[in-house]
Amino acid sequence: MPEIRQLSPSVINKIAAGEVIERPASVVKELVENSVDAGATRIDVTVEQGGGQLIRITDNGCGIRPEQLLLAVASHATSKIADADDLFRVTTFGFRGEALASIAEISLMRIVSRAAESETGAELEVHGGAAEPIAPCGCPVGTTIEVRNLFFNTPVRRKFLRSTQTELGHVTEALLRVALPQPRVHFTLRHNDRIVHDLPPVESWRERILNCFGPEVGESLIWVESRDDSDTVLLSGYVGDPSCSRANNRLQYLFLNGRYIRDRALQHALGEAYRGLMLQGRFPVAFLRLELPPDSVDVNVHPTKLEVRFQDGSRVYSQTLSTLRNKFLTTDLTARVKPLTTNSADDDATSRPAERQTLAADSPVAWARGPAQGSVFPPRRSEPATPPRPADSAAYRLSAPPEAPRQPSLPWSSERPVAPAQPLPLAASAPPPAAPPGPATAIHARHRGLQIHNRYLVSESDEGLVVIDQHALHERVLYEQLRDKILSGEMERQRLLVPEPVTLAPAEAGVVLDQRETLAELGIEIEPFGGDTVLVVAYPALLANLNPGEVLRQAVELLMSGVGAADRRGLIDELLHMMACKAAVKAGDRLSPDEVAALLEHRELCQDAHHCPHGRPTALIFTREELDKRFKRI
Ligand code: ADP
Ligand code: MG
Repeated sequence: MPEIRQLSPSVINKIAAGEVIERPASVVKELVENSVDAGATRIDVTVEQGGGQLIRITDNGCGIRPEQLLLAVASHATSKIADADDLFRVTTFGFRGEALASIAEISLMRIVSRAAESETGAELEVHGGAAEPIAPCGCPVGTTIEVRNLFFNTPVRRKFLRSTQTELGHVTEALLRVALPQPRVHFTLRHNDRIVHDLPPVESWRERILNCFGPEVGESLIWVESRDDSDTVLLSGYVGDPSCSRANNRLQYLFLNGRYIRDRALQHALGEAYRGLMLQGRFPVAFLRLELPPDSVDVNVHPTKLEVRFQDGSRVYSQTLSTLRNKFLTTDLTARVKPLTTNSADDDATSRPAERQTLAADSPVAWARGPAQGSVFPPRRSEPATPPRPADSAAYRLSAPPEAPRQPSLPWSSERPVAPAQPLPLAASAPPPAAPPGPATAIHARHRGLQIHNRYLVSESDEGLVVIDQHALHERVLYEQLRDKILSGEMERQRLLVPEPVTLAPAEAGVVLDQRETLAELGIEIEPFGGDTVLVVAYPALLANLNPGEVLRQAVELLMSGVGAADRRGLIDELLHMMACKAAVKAGDRLSPDEVAALLEHRELCQDAHHCPHGRPTALIFTREELDKRFKRI
């Protein structure tokens, strides 16, 4: 029979250390948090060799009295809570009373501390859990804790240490997670005598973020703030402009009552809020603070307290999502061309070179005169593509090239009366009006545009020069119109006189028939026809210019790929994207001047006109100021 034994305190501490102290960064986190808990206004961190050799933290906090020093390094000894009830009103970082004991067990630790009320300080050394006698010493008020040779007596952990650079990266991250929500505390981080971060005390959170992450992030911040109905949940902070995105979610900082946390649900809310504002695979930047009554959240579910449990997680989720969404609806998120000083290596959408298409460079320049009646949007598929013309290698000309179709007058100064703008005739089933444009009024300057390279529209706004991606914008217009129609249950459908049979793979046929109702909601009506063939009997009038079989096949592809499979709304949204994309004008499509004007006019009616449904920007603004600067006028 195996014997049951009480473990020694040393073994218990090592086990605790195993949970909490994974690497040098864990030590930095625990010690810096202790310094903040001690009310320090200045915290200096020094590490050598990524922290494996030395970690030293000096603070000017309340200090520890000599007679308390031994208790501080004892396990389950804390000054922060007294009984179990306190666990539900924790307002400090620490409360488990385990960190110092764990760290002292697996390193050579030295604490020098002086409490504000003490005349002198005291020093305590602990070697692998064995405490030396306490010795008095002179020192300023506050605490310095040195941790040398971390994991010296737990060789397996030591072996898992990564390169100095990697460990330093983790140390830096650990420090920033504590420093970010404490802008009034001065933090420094030194590595091998080099200053890695010097974060002076600042008044605003924005300044702290700027100091931590630099101007690219700092200048993209959008302030958000909200309270829930019962006034108990306060959400505030900054989120990044969609043009400032990242390839991973590491620049998403969420703080709960000042504590950095990771929360999958809230990360999801963040992703949802940016849906359609960012390309797939990109992640927004965010610095958000949640303030909740301490008793409505359990922080005692994870040893390092990285994860917490909300009493009402779904309420926090929807508050986060709606706060951000509402903010974006009232914010102009149109991408602006960044000042020349911006680091050209950044990877955001505005500085990415445009994808190339061979047709583009030598397409004719189309002038827009303004809207007239009879625009033939969107059934353009039947139109023959305009043949490419020889390129004009010089800069864009300000008059039409000789081989371009002759225009009666230059559009920018058009006094010629034209018809008022008509909405894009999206229901393509309506017969195109044959009558020529009647008498009309002058076109609004905002809707005048020039098509270049058969893919971009150039226009002006009060702010500056606007370059628009015709496909992205049209896609956005159609997407919002389709969405509105679905929401109001008015999706117009066109019944096919002769239903179109579409033969699918066996698995596809099953999935499609399963999703029959969802498809019907979108206007795509199908019926089983036997075997793996289904009949398309009706489809959205908006897609009249597309082949019904083709629309169904596209939908099948989406259904099979499992996109949005998790929820019906997500699936419908993906299908709408697909339909909008298919029906929109493409790069390379020549637009008539009326179409250009109609598109520009619709831009103003869109909710999120600045991004296509997939999250690509639809427009880019060269502000007048930026133009003036680049032309050396200012
Ligand atoms: P916890 O933070 O959970 O209380 P720790 O093991 O981290 O546990 O610290 C034990 C105790 O030591 C703390 O409760 C605090 O009273 C004291 N202490 C630790 N670090 C400091 C510091 N930098 N300044 C003042 N007191 C400290
Ligand atoms: Mg602690």
